[in-house]
Amino acid sequence: MAAGSDVAVSSLSCANCSKPANLQCPKCMELKLPREGSAFCTQECFKASWSSHKSVHLKPKPSSQGTGMTGEQISDSLNEGWLYCLKKGQARTPKLPYYDWTGTLRPYPISSKRIVPANIDRPDWADDGIPKVEPNSDLQHVVEIKTPAQIERMRETCRISREVLDAAARVIRPGLTTDEIDKVVHEATIAAGGYPSPLNYNIFPKSCCTSVNEVICHGIPDARKLEDGDIVNVDVSVYYKGVHGDLNETYFVGNVDEESRRLVQCTYECLEKAISIVKPGVRFREIGEVINCHASMSGLSVVKSYCGHGIGELFHCAPNILHYGRNKAVGVMKAGQTFTIEPMINAGVWRDRMWPDGWTAVTADGKHSAQFEHTLLVTETGVEVLTARLPASPDVFPWLHS
Ligand SMILES: [Zn+2]
Ligand SMILES: [Zn+2]
Repeated sequence: MAAGSDVAVSSLSCANCSKPANLQCPKCMELKLPREGSAFCTQECFKASWSSHKSVHLKPKPSSQGTGMTGEQISDSLNEGWLYCLKKGQARTPKLPYYDWTGTLRPYPISSKRIVPANIDRPDWADDGIPKVEPNSDLQHVVEIKTPAQIERMRETCRISREVLDAAARVIRPGLTTDEIDKVVHEATIAAGGYPSPLNYNIFPKSCCTSVNEVICHGIPDARKLEDGDIVNVDVSVYYKGVHGDLNETYFVGNVDEESRRLVQCTYECLEKAISIVKPGVRFREIGEVINCHASMSGLSVVKSYCGHGIGELFHCAPNILHYGRNKAVGVMKAGQTFTIEPMINAGVWRDRMWPDGWTAVTADGKHSAQFEHTLLVTETGVEVLTARLPASPDVFPWLHS
């Protein structure tokens, strides 16, 4: 949502800079607040004055049970969530925009941005939300061969990423909000001395992605409580010692029906089978063949719009790892390369749609989607799974019971 311009209010002056104003804050209009003081000359002035302007809006609603927040905090976090949507030029408000939702899931308010202590080393998007080195790097075209020193740092960061994801896995249960998962991820990351890579990456507002049911990927943690029977993917990326680690897993919330359990297990197997072929000399395009073969055998489909990626000092770089069959990925694996494989497998059709928040990718038919991801190193003889499960990793996948 942005400040509306459909009303003639040019006799008013901008609440920020006093120039003639013909945009009105939609929240003030909704609340029928006086027009003077709620008019702005440009979206820029509107955004710039938001932090002070918002205080003229809604006073606290009665406190809602069980959230651990006061009425004031809830009201604030609603406004913050709304502000985020404003930045994206789209709405994510309690009053939903028109959208042809594909399934039953809906967006909920987003809490305020979490703080990273000043002593933690930050990627270049941490302050203004814009990655600067990454899009202009040669490593978008050339696949880097990591040095032994870089590989050692990748090992450390990927191990931390695994421990952070495991911390999230341990708390998942019906009634927990995805925002509470984000809090666990954020705090475990900074406790390890890392920066949560997604935070403010292209102004993504949270420290991890949480993708529930029909969400394929990039779901934004919000105030929705997990329900018995949901599946939820948690995607964790950590920046530590100048390199990124990236992994995700899909978890069961309470009792999940047979169809979704099969979907999640098959997706896990797709990733395992893809990893098993990784070694020097194998074509990147083979990964998609292995995944497509296993998924289609089970009557499932493979998402085409999102792919795995090279990773290291850059969060996302060459190569693109395509997960579907008959893909045109170029190149051959070489020892010293690091990249992710992260198949997204759908119970129904492969096609995806985007929510109006500009991030949340959902299945076109509203059926469930699952994903697993590892960060890998190609070795002289095969592959090292840098984000591999640890002896202490929680026992959450029934098919791993020996
Ligand atoms: Zn990831
Ligand atoms: Zn990734």
